[in-house]
Amino acid sequence: MTRSAAGTTAVVVGSGPGGLAAAVTLAAAGCDVTVVEAAETVGGGLRSAELTLPGLVHDHCAGFHPLAVDNAFTGSHDLAGHGLAWARAPIEMAHPLTDGTGAVVERDLATTVAGLDTLSPRDARTWRRLFGPAADRWDAVRAEIGRPVVHLPRHPLALASFGARAAAPAALVARAFEDRRVAALWLGIAAHGFRPPSEPFTSAAGLALGTAAHVTGWPVAVGGSQRYADAMVGVLRSHGGRVETGQRVTSLAELRAATGADLVLLDTSPRDAARILGDAQPDRLRRRYAGWRHLVGAFGVSLAVEGGIPWAHEPSRRSAVVHVGGAPDVLAASARAVRAGRVPEHPFVLVGQQAVADPARGRDGVVPVDAYAHVPAGFDGDLTALVMAELEAHAPGLRERVRALVTRTPAETERDGINFVDGDISTGAVDARQLLLGPRPGRSPYPTGVPGVYLCSAATAPGPGAHGLTGYGAARRALTDLAGGRA
Ligand SMILES: Cc1cc2nc3c(=O)[nH]c(=O)nc-3n(C[C@H](O)[C@H](O)[C@H](O)COP(=O)(O)OP(=O)(O)OC[C@H]3O[C@@H](n4cnc5c(N)ncnc54)[C@H](O)[C@@H]3O)c2cc1C
Repeated sequence: MTRSAAGTTAVVVGSGPGGLAAAVTLAAAGCDVTVVEAAETVGGGLRSAELTLPGLVHDHCAGFHPLAVDNAFTGSHDLAGHGLAWARAPIEMAHPLTDGTGAVVERDLATTVAGLDTLSPRDARTWRRLFGPAADRWDAVRAEIGRPVVHLPRHPLALASFGARAAAPAALVARAFEDRRVAALWLGIAAHGFRPPSEPFTSAAGLALGTAAHVTGWPVAVGGSQRYADAMVGVLRSHGGRVETGQRVTSLAELRAATGADLVLLDTSPRDAARILGDAQPDRLRRRYAGWRHLVGAFGVSLAVEGGIPWAHEPSRRSAVVHVGGAPDVLAASARAVRAGRVPEHPFVLVGQQAVADPARGRDGVVPVDAYAHVPAGFDGDLTALVMAELEAHAPGLRERVRALVTRTPAETERDGINFVDGDISTGAVDARQLLLGPRPGRSPYPTGVPGVYLCSAATAPGPGAHGLTGYGAARRALTDLAGGRA
């Protein structure tokens, strides 16, 4: 029997970007939606807080939102009307080396190419060939990569061209660059995929995020990423939805008994979903969810820095994101060590300087900085000294400027975020098996095998990031099933 959304009750478990996007999509379609969140505050990976000093706004997790700007979900709702505004730094990202040189990505492709031309004219042309085609057709490319890996493309040519490039190991692409600074710039972007660059498909993250940098930029949310979560809550409330915090859901049976929900969307890790669904889930899927792998974790270091980080590479001071990972061979060795379960000699450290784009996040000349290093998932040591040594090597004099420092181990990241099992901020290893097949092999990764219950977290397509597209995809699948009498 077909059903309409009106009169349908839905509970969304978890208020990360995936959960809130699902809730907004269902509520806008007419469902009666309640979001239940374990933490005392909403937002999951979008939360912001004064982590170091009063008045300094730090992003707990996601700070940069290249894939969130005007995508299929965010472009369909008045988030700006509910307080969301994007801000960009003069430079999108920088990759300094310890000798004070480096390379940068600016939003405008032509400006970036002109800058790279001063390092190597040949590399500048290669950069244009690498990113130009996808940047020219970004709307079509984004529409394709924002959907499950296995799907019928609406823009087959754009997808084929992007897919052919994305399949290459990032290290192979790096060999096309003769200047090590340009190769390192490329590998630093690709490192957001959390995999050794010699592996197939490691160009995918670099291409998607690099192209986005040239089209939408890597913006921050004015006032903190929390504002993005709050804007989604505002839209949700405007459609009659509600959020209840401080309640961890542990059992589907209990949730359904308490709420009578027709639809349940889980913004949880697959492992937690397996526990919540229990025997209701078919054995095969339950084993797959319970065995979801987490390989790379993050060791977080948040700083309050007087006057900002004194990078020796001056353009890095004007960039929102700085990749501290060194030359190409150092980056590759670091990723290999993490994959082998070891702490690298020189860890890859991603440094967020949100205040460069959004100065009001600082106070009295002291600015918040949020950095994290890639470490093996579950690493339980203290990496503070090593991270600070890496930063100091690229920014001599930093230590004297630090007014406060707060660290977060992978275990603490999991405690704060639940879904980030063992500190894995990708909500699952982005290896070929999990990337291509997802938590549920087939055309749609969202159904859990339990009628009316869907997974909407970053473990589903199109994967990690605070873009909201996982929740949007899951909610649309739920609405389609509802209309077809299958939910
Ligand atoms: C340090 C760090 C930096 C990052 N940087 C970026 C970045 O710059 N840009 C970017 O796009 N992404 C970034 N990410 C990744 C991004 O934050 C995640 O991909 C995104 O938040 C995933 O969204 P989600 O909705 O799947 O889950 P989450 O954001 O993890 O939200 C899940 C929510 O559900 C709640 N929950 C889970 N289980 C239950 C339960 N059983 N009952 C009730 N509530 C539950 C959790 O408390 C949480 O609030 C970063 C992550 C980290 C940790």
